[in-house]
Amino acid sequence: MRNVVIIGSGPAGLTAAIYAARANLAPMLVEGWQSGGQLTTTTEVENFPGFAKGIMGPDLMKDMRAQAERFGTDFLTGDVSSVEFGTRPLKITVDHERTIEARTVIIATGASAIQIGLKNEARLTGHGVSTCATCDGFFFRGKELVVVGGGDSAMEEANFLTKFATKVYVVHRRDKLRASKIMQDRAFKNDKISFIWNTIVEDILGEDTVSGVRLNNLVMGTTTTLPASGVFVAIGHRPNTALFAGQLDMDAKGYIVTKHGTTTSVPGVFAAGDVQDSIYRQAITAAGTGCMAAIDAEKFLELTGHR
Ligand code: NAP
Repeated sequence: MRNVVIIGSGPAGLTAAIYAARANLAPMLVEGWQSGGQLTTTTEVENFPGFAKGIMGPDLMKDMRAQAERFGTDFLTGDVSSVEFGTRPLKITVDHERTIEARTVIIATGASAIQIGLKNEARLTGHGVSTCATCDGFFFRGKELVVVGGGDSAMEEANFLTKFATKVYVVHRRDKLRASKIMQDRAFKNDKISFIWNTIVEDILGEDTVSGVRLNNLVMGTTTTLPASGVFVAIGHRPNTALFAGQLDMDAKGYIVTKHGTTTSVPGVFAAGDVQDSIYRQAITAAGTGCMAAIDAEKFLELTGHR
């Protein structure tokens, strides 16, 4: 029987682990096969306090993991296949074979990249279609690329890709960006980036690899073809909550509803980070709520006579 089981290894999960381990709760953290969360697929993180010169996302996650390990977090690598929150103790099954019992659970499963939903997008994923510039940008040296989206992720991807590509077209469905001012300015100043406004990607072209996109200008109603060797989709994220459907209260978009910090609709189950945050979605806010979840779990254990 575990006092605390944490599901997820992004900033929320690892911060919860650091706090729970330092409170002598001997937490177990279940990290998926792709450990470290979204920051492992990002480039330079410039806004995480304490790193005046910035830090690469994967390095930040490696350090957070080492910090959680140093204080005695027990890591289990595997994907949680089901949970049972309707009875006590709480149960978490990993890879369909191992069931762990817990007095409290902290859910920090984060969010995943949304896809446009085109048939050829799925078919050409890994063959020119990507949601991760850091992972795949290197393969497009000297090529022309398309980035879809108008938020911070799209600007970050576009800027990063200009290290390799000769030209990056940002295709956005409106005539205004959603991205923060600083990210917009950086993209506007970059000679290699051009914007295609009021336009959606209607289809992704290519047999074995991407050869271009078919664009639809929503204002003019015109359809054009743009040659490109890669398409980077950066149109936002969806919370990873399918596992908890029917067991926890969620909002219309599938985010876990929390009250008083990180408390969910099931006593002893807490949620931290992007899985319960559709507004801020920053590494630092995820870490902050991870800390809160560990403190909330500790209080719950005290109140239920296990401390
Ligand atoms: P986002 O802010 O939700 O932006 C998504 C963008 O994709 C929007 O411009 C949206 O268009 C567009 N979009 C959504 N669905 C679409 C579709 N089906 N077809 C075409 N376009 C579509 O998502 P994000 O950029 O991933 O950012 C998420 C959060 O992470 C934000 O809070 C952001 O500040 C943060 N973030 C921060 C940094 C940083 O500071 N370095 C980097 C990355 C992300 P509309 O504008 O028309 O809605």
